[in-house]
Amino acid sequence: MQNKRSWAEPYKIKMVEPVRMITREQRQKAIEEAGYNTFLLRSRDVYIDLLTDSGTSAMSDRQWAGMMLGDEAYAGSENFYHLEEVIREYYGYTYIVPTHQGRAAEHIISQLMIKEGDFVPGNMYFTTTRLHQELAGGTFVDVIIDEAHDPENQHPFKANIDLQKLEDLIKEKGPERIPYVTVSTSVNMAGGQPISLENLRQVRQLCNSYGIKIVHDMTRVAENAWFIKQREPGFENWTVAAIVKEICSLTDAATMSAKKDALVNIGGFLALNDENLYNLACNMVVVYEGLHTYGGMAGRDMEALAIGITESVQEDHIRARVGQVQYLGEKIKAMGIPIVEPIGSHGVFLDAKRILPHLSQDKLPAQSLAAALYLDAGIRGMERGVVSSGRNKDTGEHIYPKLELVRLTIPRRVYTQAHMDVVAESVQAVYEEREAITGLNFVYEPEYLRFFQSRFAVI
Ligand SMILES: *Cc1c(COP(=O)(O)O)cnc(C)c1O
Repeated sequence: MQNKRSWAEPYKIKMVEPVRMITREQRQKAIEEAGYNTFLLRSRDVYIDLLTDSGTSAMSDRQWAGMMLGDEAYAGSENFYHLEEVIREYYGYTYIVPTHQGRAAEHIISQLMIKEGDFVPGNMYFTTTRLHQELAGGTFVDVIIDEAHDPENQHPFKANIDLQKLEDLIKEKGPERIPYVTVSTSVNMAGGQPISLENLRQVRQLCNSYGIKIVHDMTRVAENAWFIKQREPGFENWTVAAIVKEICSLTDAATMSAKKDALVNIGGFLALNDENLYNLACNMVVVYEGLHTYGGMAGRDMEALAIGITESVQEDHIRARVGQVQYLGEKIKAMGIPIVEPIGSHGVFLDAKRILPHLSQDKLPAQSLAAALYLDAGIRGMERGVVSSGRNKDTGEHIYPKLELVRLTIPRRVYTQAHMDVVAESVQAVYEEREAITGLNFVYEPEYLRFFQSRFAVI
């Protein structure tokens, strides 16, 4: 990063959780039993777990203290009101509906706003988001800039929306067929890339002129805000908290997986400004999640979330969080190993297409690379390529995405710099032996979100 000082952690360690390193023979057995799908490994067999940054954060002593203040009343819990107050203060949305995690909020907003035959543009798809849009009868349309699909392109804001693509779609389908645009901050599937405020303001203007709403997938909004502060002219002296609020102010509603940015192990919410929509959402949440003042969360979890939100936008925290990811990425890059650039906010994405050029995409290069990495040193990453993309809902064919990646996602406040060094060494070891990787075939494939539960065999 531009800053010459180390990103060192703004905390010290108060409690430790032992991890174990099993032998290569044991790992071989474990990955076979898991059908070469890292989602099906038992965590006790994993040494450094970079599967996801979702729900894997270490909570602070303040958050743990908050857990003791849980008001477990069925209705009207104190913690709900605290959470509501914090969301209003930090994000600026008026109404909140708690949910057990992000996809539940996606379910509600999709069902409420999408009609059969609608189109929902967004800056790249996310697995659960797109599925809920489709289940509600909509079709997702990718309107991210082309640069986002090129892992070598150095564009500083690869999550930007291509305004021409968006306007063409609106003109082609008609604004009445487009209930909203999904704007994700720090786009996961593009490698943790940010959207600029300039672009978001333009999207807002365009949407206003056609009367189209914007729904913000704010799962990693603070990480996006950090990149804006680093890269976007005019925001150098803004606080991350102010940038976060500015982003939210340009959108009409938000879905949040609090398991990421907001530093809790479970939780999420739907945030809205429209009272009518809020009333409908309250009615729906009680069917699927729970009463609108807990929506699938315990009181203590809402308290930990309220505190987590306040910590998530602190400069020291976010500098170290993104700094650790940059540290790992720079290290792997210096070894000459192809990764997505610029290095993203929540993980390092290995470019499996370039690492395994001898495997065609139907041999599932990223899935194969993730399995090889586990075998080498017990490091668990996740496939983000053709397996995650799924099948075309009309033709049943695999969707071959341009990006075929293995994501090494860094949990927040969990691992040390020495762990990052071990990860880089293992990536290098696998890279040196890459020609021995022969690819995988599906042996079991579930219908929905297949990457979670599919099983594979070595070709
Ligand atoms: C994790 C995630 C979701 C879904 O949230 P869950 O809490 O896992 O249900 C939605 N969007 C993005 C960008 C995510 O990373």
